[in-house]
Amino acid sequence: MISAQGIHKGFGGTPVLKGVSLELARGEVVAIIGPSGSGKSTFLRCLNHLETIDRGTITIEGEVLARSEGEARAQYVSEAEIRQIGRKMGMVFQSFNLFPHLTVLENIIEAPIIVKGMKRDAIVPKAEALLQKVGLLEKRDAYPNRLSGGQKQRVAIARALAMDPDILLFDEPTSALDPELTGEVLRTMRELAEERMTMLVVTHEMGFAREVANRVIFMDGGHIVEQGPAAAFFANPQQARTRAFLQNML
Ligand code: ATP
Ligand code: MG
Repeated sequence: MISAQGIHKGFGGTPVLKGVSLELARGEVVAIIGPSGSGKSTFLRCLNHLETIDRGTITIEGEVLARSEGEARAQYVSEAEIRQIGRKMGMVFQSFNLFPHLTVLENIIEAPIIVKGMKRDAIVPKAEALLQKVGLLEKRDAYPNRLSGGQKQRVAIARALAMDPDILLFDEPTSALDPELTGEVLRTMRELAEERMTMLVVTHEMGFAREVANRVIFMDGGHIVEQGPAAAFFANPQQARTRAFLQNML
């Protein structure tokens, strides 16, 4: 489904990703955990082409997005192809990133109309169904500043789903939320997982990682230090660094 091989990325000569590789199968839910500054967000942003990579290969459904051989810099396919491929990925950020001047419904239908050229008549019923799914149909005509953080994040998830992505990337979707609002967002994500949505989730929610993710990846210092099936990962972490991190988290 999505494959990253040997991804290297630095900023101004400082290496941040030092050869990160990941294979994600259709329907799989993978949680990425790790300390602040370990490169988790940078890795997601590279996958989603919000950052260019220095070296490595990224393929989505077998289509190459970027590739380098050996030590050579990564070469990208054309911008048009990147846009096409990028539509297969939806991203949900910590900070919601809703358009403040658009209503909830307008936030959701904007990209399908502008990017995909969908007709309003076709996308509005779909947007309403998605709002129903995340439990916010009654907020259809509200502006984002009238919503709680948890509601905003559920709208952001509905907005990502409106593009029919093959995979959803989440970057700490609940970190900006008060604890009592975290549950409603995690519940929505759990329902998506049960529907076999392919998801890659950077999170500090160890309960979510343990119960919902099929696989957990621990990143530290720009490397994947350890990964494994969620139950085994938490029950029996192999690396000292993983154990130290989990001890601080739990
Ligand atoms: P957190 O848990 O705090 O979100 P993270 O694992 O997501 O951390 P990243 O945001 O990927 O970490 O950052 C990894 C490193 O890369 C950090 O040292 C950060 O300062 C650096 N970095 C990230 N983006 C940039 C940028 N655009 N320019 C320069 N340095 C950057
Ligand atoms: Mg981050």
